[in-house]
Amino acid sequence: MADPAIEASPYVRAQNNLGTLGLHEMSALLPDYMRMVSEGDADFCSAVAQMTQVEVEARTQRITRLRIRSSGFPCVKTLADFDWSFQPSVPRPLVEELATLRFVDRAENVLLVGSPGVGKTHLATAIGIEAVKAGKEVRFIDCARLVDDLKDAQSRGILKKRLKYYAHSKLLIIDELGYLDIDEGGADLLFQLVSTRYEQRSTIITTNVGITGRAKVFGDEVAASAIADRICHHCHVIKITGRSYRLKDVPTERKMKEE
Ligand code: ADP
Ligand code: MG
Repeated sequence: MADPAIEASPYVRAQNNLGTLGLHEMSALLPDYMRMVSEGDADFCSAVAQMTQVEVEARTQRITRLRIRSSGFPCVKTLADFDWSFQPSVPRPLVEELATLRFVDRAENVLLVGSPGVGKTHLATAIGIEAVKAGKEVRFIDCARLVDDLKDAQSRGILKKRLKYYAHSKLLIIDELGYLDIDEGGADLLFQLVSTRYEQRSTIITTNVGITGRAKVFGDEVAASAIADRICHHCHVIKITGRSYRLKDVPTERKMKEE
């Protein structure tokens, strides 16, 4: 039997146990809830329910943050950060519909087309982060890096495994298709990936090239149209035609310098 003379008080033991279990939110709340229970402002069960609720919410947020970090996003962007009035060509109702993630459940694709700086990566990231929050497996990757990675896997004889890895994500975001030309081998690898996901999993692609420019990017018209075929079937196309947001403040900065 434990000796009450040398045993720590229940409060200290409770705090130690909460610390050992990593329940830091509950540990911080314990003094307040102890007081509320002792003063009759809360019953024991609701105190436990409320403390565990705070701990559960903190844990969910922690996991989401970790999953956002490990999904490969270049930065965290949300639809709340998006200035819709700056870019009126963006169909807000469609983007908001995409953020409900029904397109992911239907394994549909999204193509964001537009010149640099118009918000393609921002919108793709915002939708991707919604999917992470909903507990879906998301992978964000730059197109050139994806092609390099698949080529590397091919040269090491592990292409099948690598394709499986990318095919597995519930939502794959391929960013910046078209910024760098892709050779025939790369186009074939991309085609294999897009084929494995076709009608099974959703893919979002951001690109600065329209349909006609794609043959040039892939250096091969057949591969270009085969990829476009699979991507564009069951696809939401968002064409952004506005100015670059990166240049938004240029006149203002100039003005400030001149002042
Ligand atoms: P793109 O991928 O089309 O080249 P980005 O999405 O990378 O452009 O946008 C460039 C920068 O401008 C990013 O920091 C992005 O968050 C920001 N941005 C672009 N459009 C908007 C917008 N309409 N509202 C708020 N920020 C925007
Ligand atoms: Mg971009």
